[in-house]
Amino acid sequence: MPDSAVTGDFRASFRAESFIPGEPGYDQARAVWNGDIDRRPELIVRPGDATQTADAVNFAREAGLEVTVRGGGHSFAGHAVCDGGMMIDLSAMKQVQVDRPARRARCGGGTTWAELDAASQEHGLAVPGGFISHTGVAGLTLGGGIGWLTPRAGLSCDNLVGAEVVSAEGRIVVASDESNPELFWALRGGGGNFGIVTAFEFALHEVAPTVHLGLFFWDADHAADGLRFSRDLIPHLPEAAGVLVAGLSAPSAPFVPERYQGLPGIALVIIGWDGPEEQARTLEPVLASAPETQWQLITPMPYVHLQRMFDDSAQWGILAYEKALYLDELTDEAIDVFAYYLPRKASPLSFVPVFSMRGAFSRVGDEDTAFGGRRDAKWVFNISAACPTPDLLEHDRSWVREFWDALRPHASGPGTYLNFLSETDEDRVRSSYGDRKYERLSRIKAEWDPENLFRHNANIRPTKP
Ligand code: FAD
Repeated sequence: MPDSAVTGDFRASFRAESFIPGEPGYDQARAVWNGDIDRRPELIVRPGDATQTADAVNFAREAGLEVTVRGGGHSFAGHAVCDGGMMIDLSAMKQVQVDRPARRARCGGGTTWAELDAASQEHGLAVPGGFISHTGVAGLTLGGGIGWLTPRAGLSCDNLVGAEVVSAEGRIVVASDESNPELFWALRGGGGNFGIVTAFEFALHEVAPTVHLGLFFWDADHAADGLRFSRDLIPHLPEAAGVLVAGLSAPSAPFVPERYQGLPGIALVIIGWDGPEEQARTLEPVLASAPETQWQLITPMPYVHLQRMFDDSAQWGILAYEKALYLDELTDEAIDVFAYYLPRKASPLSFVPVFSMRGAFSRVGDEDTAFGGRRDAKWVFNISAACPTPDLLEHDRSWVREFWDALRPHASGPGTYLNFLSETDEDRVRSSYGDRKYERLSRIKAEWDPENLFRHNANIRPTKP
């Protein structure tokens, strides 16, 4: 740990905001989305560009400080912050530029999806992001990125066309198909292991400002029926339709009948991109043959509202924990496990999103990106505790673990979607990539970060020479 005079000298020369313990702003700056994480870095810096980021990396490396990188601060594990080290907080780097004719967007390493969506939608464009708009573009993209547009346009990382990266040596480099292609490959799924991405460049897709939502809800007594129906329906939906199946408590919203507000159940959400007639055709089989729902909502809505529809259910500071797995098949047995555990959560905000992986996601080759999951995976299951109080978290953390243990015999293997890994587990990181991909990543890591400076993440060990 550097002495305070050394830190003081660095801060005096650093041309951007920084904080040490006890200073105004320090506690806000060290806070991350998961309120269960309470860590106190020695120093927090907030660079405004790649050069200042490189200055921070060089100082931390030479001073022997642990480094954490904060994009949007949403890692459940709290990887953006550690005790005693230096947090490099990119939240001052949020510039978004959209090139309409080229259908490209460039954004800073601290941009959130809300910010990127708003700027892209001004031009009727979008890049696949996540389901909650205050999540960071950085961590979500570097680990994959599953969202409403994934069946239509792939993962967020599939749409990355270039990145500006500050390496562990403090060099500023470009990664793309033409420049440092191995690094570029690794950035698309290999997480924050290879350097700090100070700017992302994405390919954009035409997405009309109004999209069409169909939401169907079955209460806990009818959850298994709703799940079986959803499973059988989804393969027959238009391939590009956005789909989410989620176990959650019905919100206290005007469109939910009062007697169902707060009660757990299953929601099937189907998003149409191509106007009301197309959506009416898509929803026809649901309206004709779905088991009776307790409530439903069919409505047009702006794309940017869709992107933040679940924001309030996952507010900053909530106490959180999660576990996830891949399933090849949503068997009747797995559905029975789901229906059994769903009503046993204690917090109304704990939820179980189940992502149907199909369409454009499945058409990308396994080796084309470093994404840590098989492209033939059919379902990603995420069991999340989100609790307003510590006693609810204690209950729901056990609920997550028991639910996950019960589902494990139905999983497609030991791997998981690495953006949903709450606890450090080297074996699961390796098995999520598979040996071949892990070894390639490990060689790239050895080239770009041989001392494993960037290790607060789903960590890939550098190959030893
Ligand atoms: P951070 O905590 O800031 O960073 C996460 C990791 O990335 C850390 O290891 C960090 O060091 C590294 N990192 C951050 N920025 C950079 C950078 N610029 N350069 C290099 N490394 C960096 N995932 C989905 O795929 N789809 C979803 O719909 C989805 N919804 C979510 C909703 C919520 C409420 C939460 C909490 C998470 C959700 N996730 C989702 C998971 C999400 O993808 C990960 O938590 C992701 O890591 C968040 O990125 P971040 O930048 O906000 O987080």
